[in-house]
Amino acid sequence: MSSFSTEVKNELSRITADDACCRIAELAALMRMGASMSIGSNMNLGINFSTENPAIARKTLTLLKESFKLKTEVVVSRARRLKKNNSYLIRVVPAPAVSELLTTLGIMRGDNLNVSSDEGLLRKTCCRHAYLRGAFLGGGSVSRPEGDYHLELVTGNEGFATTLVNLFKKFELPVGITDRKNDSVVYLKDSEAIMDFLSIVGAEEAIVEFEVARNVKDVRNQVNRLVNCETANLQKTVNAAVRQVGRIKLIEAKIGLGKLPDNLKEVALLRLEHPQANLQELVAANENKIGKSGMNHRLRKLEQIAVDLIEGEENGLKE
Ligand SMILES: [Zn+2]
Repeated sequence: MSSFSTEVKNELSRITADDACCRIAELAALMRMGASMSIGSNMNLGINFSTENPAIARKTLTLLKESFKLKTEVVVSRARRLKKNNSYLIRVVPAPAVSELLTTLGIMRGDNLNVSSDEGLLRKTCCRHAYLRGAFLGGGSVSRPEGDYHLELVTGNEGFATTLVNLFKKFELPVGITDRKNDSVVYLKDSEAIMDFLSIVGAEEAIVEFEVARNVKDVRNQVNRLVNCETANLQKTVNAAVRQVGRIKLIEAKIGLGKLPDNLKEVALLRLEHPQANLQELVAANENKIGKSGMNHRLRKLEQIAVDLIEGEENGLKE
């Protein structure tokens, strides 16, 4: 079974933005998340991008090839151990034209490296959506909605993390940021916000799955609440029965049940005979001669007599 993150990423990898502006924005975020630069002979720059997800590797390669005519290579490292994933390294071979690519992606400005700010790529709403999609593909994960709600983007670049936080805020998402070892973690904890994010990046199938799981979880919580409530009621019934039996036995010991009026004596004996019955069951055991409220009323009277007996005794002691 694959993780929910992988499902979402596979879905997002199949999306191709219509406009070139968006494809550049998406690629830029992907590169910021997972790429490193290499330097070839003649000091030309190249790019290395690695991922364990073959769908993301394919998509990155497509984005690179569509927008730029550059020489690329893919190196697959087979997993040495079971349960480990293959790793895909996409290499943009060092060449003079790579500087152009990096400039278009906003990673270079003139001869300088632009560490984090990407305002140039994020002017249009369409591009902001694509940028977040790229960021998620490059370093995102989201928990399966059956468990705790959590979505995060992890990056070693603090400035880029700030760019992401600001972007989340533009979409009015309740975003949080924290450190984990040497990385910045930009995260969402709220189920509505996670669904909004999935919608922004275009993960339609994932939203459906998320929504279904969330509903199942809500229903299960409701059922649990009901069960807890019934357990509490049951406990109350048991407590009442135990208390009633105790008090009737006290009356028996102090004055004898024979001293009680017939209607009360009848109910007292009934309760002693059925010490665990609830009100409904007592009424039935009494062949419905009196209703629930009548039964309840008599039991209360019996309890009151017992209380009066104890209090009378205490008062007698005081006098
Ligand atoms: Zn766009």
